[in-house]
Parts: sequence; structure tokens; C-alpha cells
Amino acid sequence: MGRTSDQELSLRRAEDTLALLKSHGPSGGPRSFEIWYTHVSGQNPALSKALNEMLARSSELTLAQIEQLWDQHLSPNRFASHAEKTSLGVLNEIDSVMEMIDLAMGSTSQYSRSLESLTSDLDGSVDRNKLRDVVSRLVRATKETVATNQTLEARLQETRGEIQDLRETLESIRTESLTDPLTTLANRKHLDNMLLSAVDHAALSGEPLTLMMIDVDHFKQFNDTWGHLTGDQVLRLVAMSIKGAVRPTDTAARFGGEEFAVVLPASSLKSGLLVAERIRQTVMGRELVKRSSGEALGRLTVSIGIASYIRGDTAAMLIERADKCLLEAKRSGRNRCIADGELDPELSHVA
Ligand code: GH3
Ligand code: MG
Ligand code: MG
Repeated sequence: MGRTSDQELSLRRAEDTLALLKSHGPSGGPRSFEIWYTHVSGQNPALSKALNEMLARSSELTLAQIEQLWDQHLSPNRFASHAEKTSLGVLNEIDSVMEMIDLAMGSTSQYSRSLESLTSDLDGSVDRNKLRDVVSRLVRATKETVATNQTLEARLQETRGEIQDLRETLESIRTESLTDPLTTLANRKHLDNMLLSAVDHAALSGEPLTLMMIDVDHFKQFNDTWGHLTGDQVLRLVAMSIKGAVRPTDTAARFGGEEFAVVLPASSLKSGLLVAERIRQTVMGRELVKRSSGEALGRLTVSIGIASYIRGDTAAMLIERADKCLLEAKRSGRNRCIADGELDPELSHVA
């Protein structure tokens, strides 16, 4: 079977990359490969330029230069690079645990070999001296094994601590990457993921699922009057009002700008509407005061659109219906909650 020209090209590039790797430096790690491969394929002129400048100074790349090139030109972003370093740390830890296990196995088999040889020495006639010699060898072998085990245990303990630290770092990176920094609610990416799995779950289980979209009313005017920083503080306050009104199993997120969304799994449209109404009242009930000066800033209101999952809905369809309700709430005067579908008119239009 003949190779396609794409495969030929990749293969040729890989061969060229290997040749360059061999002639330009001590390190053959995956990053150098990635750097050289990108250079050979001509995909990243900035990287090639920086690389050529380094090579003009010295024909061998140092590890620090490789790291620098990778960080500046190939690392997808800070998080990814941090996560990559951390996972590299985890891999090194795993390697060292493996080494220790090998060591433990080695010392155990050595110990059992010593015991075997002692047993064979004891075969046949046994005199006092031979017995003393055998016992002292047995004691020595046992002591050595105990000492090895203690070292091993101490190193395992240390490694366990390091792995724990790495796990915490990974956990905080994960949390950071899913959180909106201003409000500490879930960010858009997290919301999208949660909504997708909630829709899947609703489709499989038949349980209800409700989504609400919340938008601050006339927020541009508020910003223009009181300034962006005060606006930010108020967005935090609205976020906390939302968070305080929902269950821990609900996902409250910043959808973007002054718009929020809440995914309410196992909740009907009616109960979603009650939660929305609670949020609306809480926000409206807050008299806003500028912390630094004590100045009264008045009150803000929100408009909320609520929609529930209908069989066959995609996440996008659900968002679109909740958004339509939000638009309707805005159109009909703001500071109100409107739910999708045929609800009791008294409930579906609460002003
Ligand atoms: P409406 O009642 O129709 O929603 O009016 P609005 O003024 O709230 O809506 P519009 O979409 O015209 O303006 C949204 C404003 O929200 C624009 C911007 O000043 C403000 N905004 C968006 N994101 C942020 C943010 O992160 N911080 C602050 N302080 N303001 C923001
Ligand atoms: Mg708005
Ligand atoms: Mg808006």
C-alpha cells in the first residue's frame, strides 16, 4: 500500500527534525522535537526567527533556550503551560515511586536469596561454629532489609507529600480555569460543560431541567453614572444574590458582561420561576451604597427568562428559548421574570 503525499511530507519533516535535533543540542525531549518540527514545517515564522537568532550565537541550543522558545512560541497559554509543568512533575513523581518499588522488590528478593543460601548451608551436619555463622549472617541480612525498608518508607512518605502538593496545584488550576475571576461564579466554559451534561442527563433520565438567563437592567447607564469599578462591585453583589438563591447542585454562571445563567437540574419550570422571582426580589431589595464614600447609588433590577428542557432539545435550543423569554421580559418593561411555555398566567408573568 503506497503512502499518501501528506504522510510522505510528515515523515520527511520528522526525519529532518531528527537530524536537526542530533546536530544542535544535548536535549532530545518532546519540546525540542516540537520546536524543530515546527521550524522545519515553516508554520511559525516568529519561532523560526528566534531560533535562527539563537543559532547565530551558538550552534547548540541549551535547555533554557528550548524552554524559552517553547514558552514564548508554542505554549498554548499560561494555564496549559503551568498544567503541563505540573503534570510533568506528577510523571517524575510516578517514575520515582516506580524506582522505589523496583528497589523494594530487589531488596526483598536479595533477602530471600540470602535465606535460601543459609538454608542450604544448614543442610547436612551442623556444628556450633557453622550455626553461629549462619545466625550472624541471618541477623545481618535482616538488619539490611529493615534499613532498606526504613529508607524506602521515608522516601515514600516524602513522595506522598509531593504528590499531594501537586494534586492541590492541579486542583487549583482546574478551579481557576472554570471560574469567572470577577464574580467567582462558574465561567462560560464551565456553564457550557454543565449544561451539556445536564441536557444529556435529562434526556436519559426523564428528569426535568430548567435554565434561567438573567440580565441586569439599564446597566450601561449605571456604569456611565458611577464608573466601571463601582459597576464591577455591583456585578459581584448581583452574583452573590444569585448564588445565595440557588441550591449547591445548581450551576450559577457569568454568561458574559452583565448577564448571568443558572442551570437547575431536576427542577421544573414552575420551581425555576420561583427561584428566579426570589433572585429578582433580592436584587431589587438591595439599596446600593458606595463603600468608599457611603454615597447612595440607588437600586438595580434584573430581568429573567426561564425555560425547561423539552425532549429533543439541544443545549443551544434551551439557551435560545430562555433568551427569548429574557428578551420578552425586557420588552415588557424589565424587572420581571418570564417563563417559557404555557404556564399559569399569574405565575408566568410576575412583575
Ligand atoms: P438592558 O436593560 O437592555 O439590559 O440595558 P443595559 O444597559 O444593561 O444593556 P447593554 O447591553 O446596552 O449594556 C450592558 C452594559 O454592561 C455595557 C457595559 O457598560 C456593562 N458591562 C458589561 N460587562 C461589564 C463588566 O464586566 N463590568 C462593568 N462594570 N460593566 C460591564
Ligand atoms: Mg443589561
Ligand atoms: Mg446584556
